[in-house]
Amino acid sequence: MIRSKLALYLLGKKEGFNMSAMRRFVHETEAWTATDWTRYHNQHIPALIEHAYNHVPFYHQLWDKAGVNPSEIRTVEDLSKLPIIRKADLIAHFEDFKADDMSSYPMIHHHTGGTTGTPCAYYMDRYSWALNWALKMQTFEWAGYHYGEDCLGVMAGGSLTPGKKAGWKHRLWRYVNNYYSIPVTQLTDEKLEQHYQYLKAHKIKFLRGYPSTLYTLAEYIHRTHGTLPIQAVFTTAEMLLPHQRLLMEKVFTCKLYDTYGCGDGMGHATECDAHGELHVMEHCSVMQIVDANGQEVADGEEGEIVLTDLYNMGFPFIRYAPGDSAIKSTTPCACGRQTKMIKTLLGRSSDNFKLANDRTLNGLSLPFEELTDEVKQFQVVQEKTDRVVLLLVPKIDIPMERQNEWKRLLQFHCGEGIEVDVQIVDHIELPSSGKTRYVVSKVK
Ligand SMILES: [Zn+2]
Repeated sequence: MIRSKLALYLLGKKEGFNMSAMRRFVHETEAWTATDWTRYHNQHIPALIEHAYNHVPFYHQLWDKAGVNPSEIRTVEDLSKLPIIRKADLIAHFEDFKADDMSSYPMIHHHTGGTTGTPCAYYMDRYSWALNWALKMQTFEWAGYHYGEDCLGVMAGGSLTPGKKAGWKHRLWRYVNNYYSIPVTQLTDEKLEQHYQYLKAHKIKFLRGYPSTLYTLAEYIHRTHGTLPIQAVFTTAEMLLPHQRLLMEKVFTCKLYDTYGCGDGMGHATECDAHGELHVMEHCSVMQIVDANGQEVADGEEGEIVLTDLYNMGFPFIRYAPGDSAIKSTTPCACGRQTKMIKTLLGRSSDNFKLANDRTLNGLSLPFEELTDEVKQFQVVQEKTDRVVLLLVPKIDIPMERQNEWKRLLQFHCGEGIEVDVQIVDHIELPSSGKTRYVVSKVK
């Protein structure tokens, strides 16, 4: 408990907030009803909208052009009257997203890996960031992990691990986080064995990271040692594929908790200990799942995730679509927490290609789990509107007959008039974020 308390205190000290109070608030919200959530959101919306209209050039122009009267936007329901904005708007109008009084708010400069791996800069509100941390700590506890107290093996890029800078502050910060960092690149058998030995020797009971890299570790252990008992695995930042979950739960002999997080817009959703669907955590933002017209979809329907950050006044995100899709659910969770729910995350909308023959292909809909024993990595690349290539990094020799089988499968999914190819390659480049992209389109 001491280390947990110290971690909370130091994190609060560093950020200038009372983290213990935030933790208590987040804890209290576990008993909130849908009415409590609506009331909380509606308390924040009018001030946010008024501020964005009066201080942020981008929203002023956008809403004027759309003929929206900002004083009429008072509730979550009213948000649907506002146009949806995207990463492309952020890149094109970066300066206009800054509030004219931005310097009076505590901000964190950040960037997100774009669809092509191009970082896109933005600002997070420091309070919103800290509240989101308190929220993560709460949801981690659903799996029995206590921040600071338990050591967490983290297998992810820079965004999830403390920096490697020198100096006592950074050393203390790393001590408080109590992470064992496992790099996501150069995962040779030799390195994986070292990580396996370390996790085992130090009895590390919790793992967090990108599904693709944790899966690589699980595959190695499965092949060499069989299992490594862990208490819980948290996956984030990439689409979790069903065959990855299956193998990880088998090798680590525990349940996996998938999470969705998005700093640009402060979106957060997480699986709980009932392991049904994902709870939408709306402390920092409002999350809507919308159709092509920007209206909320019905229960069980697929839509795009749209976020409104409730606290970011300096660089507001209002009706922002980060490019992710999900299926909405209205089924209450067995755990009793009454948050909004997501049935399934469907990956990024950029995982869908529009082809020259008018078909839309979801690159993740191919049965890649069948390639598990043959392939280390794969990537579907739309090179042109009428050409799609499947790249495979083989584990074993893949005979031409098998390659042709996949070519026919790809052709079936793409349809007539589309040229397809299967190519065997040595490796697939990771973007700077370290996150695996299974689907890439080179078509603008
Ligand atoms: Zn639940």
